[in-house]
Amino acid sequence: MSLIRIIKSPEPPAVLLERGVPATARLCEEYDRAPADYQSGTKRLVISDAIYAHRSVVDALISVQHRKCCFCDRKTLGDVEHFRPKQGFRQRLSDPLTRPGYYWLAYEWNNLFMACGPCNQRLKGNLFPLLQPERRARSHRDDIGHEEPLLLHPRDDEPSHHIGFRQEVAFAVDGSVRGQATRRCGTPWRMLRNSRACPGQRWDEWRALSSSLGATLKRGTPLRR
Ligand SMILES: [Zn+2]
Repeated sequence: MSLIRIIKSPEPPAVLLERGVPATARLCEEYDRAPADYQSGTKRLVISDAIYAHRSVVDALISVQHRKCCFCDRKTLGDVEHFRPKQGFRQRLSDPLTRPGYYWLAYEWNNLFMACGPCNQRLKGNLFPLLQPERRARSHRDDIGHEEPLLLHPRDDEPSHHIGFRQEVAFAVDGSVRGQATRRCGTPWRMLRNSRACPGQRWDEWRALSSSLGATLKRGTPLRR
């Protein structure tokens, strides 16, 4: 997790309003025609990266994030990340993917961030744990305001209230549950660089989470800010 809270302008890039808003309405209509099929995964909603990863969106994210990953602070011009996953989610890393995801937030400015490849594809991925999973919003008819996400939001939360660093090793401030959850999937390069200093608890979970990234490191890809 970045130590710096991301300050975004409240005004989204125009493409998210001009194309994203009508596209979201179409996704919601489509879902309403066959909710059971989208929940079982026999049908999948098509979400357009030409909108959420439009050049103007990428440029705006690069600017507000100072070319850094929203999770690990590494310098990147990486992927557009959906904080609430668009196609499906997992409460725990070992869980199967539950569909659909938060399709109605696929073009929502406050749900979009820029993340490096390892964080977006392997570490955070579709993980989106809630303190009370039974309160999860499962469609656009539910209110995400009832959710208590365990991962810190890169804009709405102040990371220093939940995560601190002793030298390079992350720890949860005052035992913050959200700090613990975010630390496990959001501080990859800091954690890996200090693997022998990692706290023993949860190490197996972290090792599973980071195995893909570890393989990348062994192949010689440097992980530096
Ligand atoms: Zn990252």
